[in-house]
Amino acid sequence: MLKIFNSLTKKKENFKPVFLNHVNMYVCGVTVYDLCHIGHGRTFIIFDLIARYLRYCGYTVTYVRNITDIDDKIINVSYKKHKCMNFFVNSMINEMHKDFTELNILPPDKEPRVTNYIPVIIQMITELLNSNHAYISKEGNVFFSVDSDINYGVLSGQFLKYLRSGKRICNKGIIKKNKLDFVLWKVSKKNEPYWCSPWGKGRPGWHIECSAMSRDLLGKTLDIHGGGSDLLFPHHENEISQSTCVNKSIYANYWIHSGMVIIKNKKMSKSLGNVFFLRDILNKYDSEIIRYYLLSTHYRQPLLYSEEVLKQSSISLIRLYRALYSTNYKDTLFRHSIFELEFRNAMNDDFNVPLVFSILSNLAKKINVLKIQKDSIEVNKLASVLCFLGNQLGLLYKNPHDFFKKQTKFQKIDITTIEKMLYIRNNARKLKNWTQADNIRKYLFSLDIILEDNQNDTFWYSIKK
Ligand SMILES: [Zn+2]
Repeated sequence: MLKIFNSLTKKKENFKPVFLNHVNMYVCGVTVYDLCHIGHGRTFIIFDLIARYLRYCGYTVTYVRNITDIDDKIINVSYKKHKCMNFFVNSMINEMHKDFTELNILPPDKEPRVTNYIPVIIQMITELLNSNHAYISKEGNVFFSVDSDINYGVLSGQFLKYLRSGKRICNKGIIKKNKLDFVLWKVSKKNEPYWCSPWGKGRPGWHIECSAMSRDLLGKTLDIHGGGSDLLFPHHENEISQSTCVNKSIYANYWIHSGMVIIKNKKMSKSLGNVFFLRDILNKYDSEIIRYYLLSTHYRQPLLYSEEVLKQSSISLIRLYRALYSTNYKDTLFRHSIFELEFRNAMNDDFNVPLVFSILSNLAKKINVLKIQKDSIEVNKLASVLCFLGNQLGLLYKNPHDFFKKQTKFQKIDITTIEKMLYIRNNARKLKNWTQADNIRKYLFSLDIILEDNQNDTFWYSIKK
């Protein structure tokens, strides 16, 4: 049975959807004011993997991932770039889709944009005002009142008690009853885009969009609500509070949060100036290597990003492809092996992909041994399993011949030089001159060329484009 770590209860729990065979999953998507960075890549590969695995388990899944296409940053950046906001937002959404497609992230079933849901959002804010969970400030902004919800803080924990304050505060001229109160409807300033509402011209605050869109598209109670762990507070806390107050039902049964990307012991963030954009990494490395790497650390753990770690991780993917090379795996689809059972056990334990990777690696080793024994029937059977299980993670979908063949030109070294060095190295290996053979391997590795030896041959692969 699938067990999921629920951020709400801080426990691994058996997964049971509301309806027997159907799963509703809502994941907070991208605010489209810039290109996507590696943190987005990680989060959305993880939820893509979760949707794929739920489908593998036999569930039908409705996966909704929203797009925040109106907020202060979008307004500021499009203004600074002298671009019409709509044009700017559409181009950013196109770029996001390009990156996600390259990373083999399947499109969600629905991808609502906030600006298409303004009436639905206005409706929910009206319900919150009517039930005294919200109030209108002097300036005309509508705020959610956290004091109206005795359960506020249920997701982010006790520390919130210390943050609570009954005093009125004035921040940049905005007066709130409690400093944790958050804006549901914001009065638009001069020259800002706006929509008409019962409270005047304005636009929705961030948190209300997910509560309103998820209820409209998936109903009052979600099976799974997900997002990056940076959204836990205040975004998800605020979503829970407003949805529960208005719907009088549980908002989401399982909360899943993916870990952050860490660079040199620091969280990746725009304010620290250490953001790596997916586009730059995709221009340098094979997209499947990036996907493999982003899945290689358990989804709840922080992921250390460095090109050195990425390079190391790529060796493992290359080994899997090498095992598939020159096998006839597509002809004999062999399912329900012991390896598939191990795969399911690992995935059922809160999506333990690092353990799955070690299962795939063992499978590859076994295939290589069988190749030496020239047991082609067993080789093909196990290669089918390897390919099938890799596919469940969105990996190993390329023809291995194409995977190894596609490279034609590199910046640091040309193919003739690589072949010459391999010839020298093979002679050194025959003469058992391991030091020379190893030095050549290390030298080529420093140029991003990875060597994989088998009994009669050496494969080489450049991880950089
Ligand atoms: Zn959200």
